[in-house]
Amino acid sequence: MSILEKSGAANAIALEDKYGAHNYHPLPVVLNRGEGVYVWDTDGKRYYDFLSAYSAVNQGHCHPKIVNALISQAQTLTLTSRAFYNDKLGKYEEFVTKYFGFDKVLPMNTGAEAVETAIKLCRKWAYERKGIAENEAKIIVCENNFHGRTTTIISFSNDEGARKNFGPYTAGFIKIAYDDIAALENVLKTETNIAGFLVEPIQGEAGVYVPAEGYLAKAKALCEAHNVLFIADEVQTGIARTGRLLAVNHENVQPDILILGKALSGGAYPVSAVLANNEIMNVIKPGQHGSTFGGNPIAAAVAIAALEVVEEENLAQNAEALGKLFREKLGDYIKNSTIVSLVRGKGLLNAIIINDTEDSSTAWDICMALSENGLLAKPTHGNIIRFAPPLVMTEEQLLDCVNIITTTLKDFEK
Ligand SMILES: *Cc1c(COP(=O)(O)O)cnc(C)c1O
Repeated sequence: MSILEKSGAANAIALEDKYGAHNYHPLPVVLNRGEGVYVWDTDGKRYYDFLSAYSAVNQGHCHPKIVNALISQAQTLTLTSRAFYNDKLGKYEEFVTKYFGFDKVLPMNTGAEAVETAIKLCRKWAYERKGIAENEAKIIVCENNFHGRTTTIISFSNDEGARKNFGPYTAGFIKIAYDDIAALENVLKTETNIAGFLVEPIQGEAGVYVPAEGYLAKAKALCEAHNVLFIADEVQTGIARTGRLLAVNHENVQPDILILGKALSGGAYPVSAVLANNEIMNVIKPGQHGSTFGGNPIAAAVAIAALEVVEEENLAQNAEALGKLFREKLGDYIKNSTIVSLVRGKGLLNAIIINDTEDSSTAWDICMALSENGLLAKPTHGNIIRFAPPLVMTEEQLLDCVNIITTTLKDFEK
């Protein structure tokens, strides 16, 4: 019996299809429970979750410590707005700034909001500290970036689906090739009025593109030399996903502005943050930026618990070790494969490249077969499948998953 013939699932899908905007194309699996590395569908079938809600659930589904923090705060005080102080926000601000080594944090809710915040902060710094003439500031971004879905952010995307017919676009961005130090150096030398360089340490949505070793450190040094802010979007790569607390830690880079979201709450609540030191963050004054829900007591309590879990359970170390094992095992398989041409990634953010055209349905068909075999993953950009399980996975579970993946792939070998 296929998933679609099952009545509970079919009904859930039909409801979304009829009453929801069609802004996503989900795999036809209807989930109703999650715990650790597992999720269950409405028929009780168990799956390994290899998407982790785009790396929001690094700490595992329904982590008891995070859920308890959520429940206990929800029963006490949920929202005050920033019109008044609450007794949780300051504690969280101290905790999160010390955790990541910055003077200050600006709390928001979603990743896109945090990126917007970083852009505003960078521009204001450029006018008030760097002395760029009003409305002239430019921010360098990379080809094939993904930073969210707001009007300004899609203005500098080169994904046609994300962009087309959403214009007019926000000006003030210069796009250069990713992982190309010469391109960055060139634009810094030839263009004037550059305020910042916004970059993903690994391009996740684009298909887990890991830049050459040294790229981030060199880019940071170039930015410093030109008095340009290095802005790291670690919404997907941060919080232990790539085997370090932050992906920039692999190259000992401290960004001028750090953008976090997703796993900052362990997937329990929308929590995002922008971190920077005083000379940058102090350009923001009352009334110049904010959000009704940003910095609410639930978010504060949840984020502290979620970050404590990362440390207490050594999630970065686990991601590093299991990631190596995963790429080694998949690498072995690929040696004799015609259907998979490459595995790449860092920590537990990995992808395989399917040996077929970008517009073929092969990657989708493989994901459907994986789901039949008890593992959920999603293609990104046609022929790439991302593998990003929760970081609370054990070695035994990971080897079980490698077995599911390779067994499934065998059916697609020509
Ligand atoms: C997911 C993501 C965002 C956007 O986060 P939302 O919470 O979906 O708005 C921004 N940047 C990167 C790198 C992401 O992966």
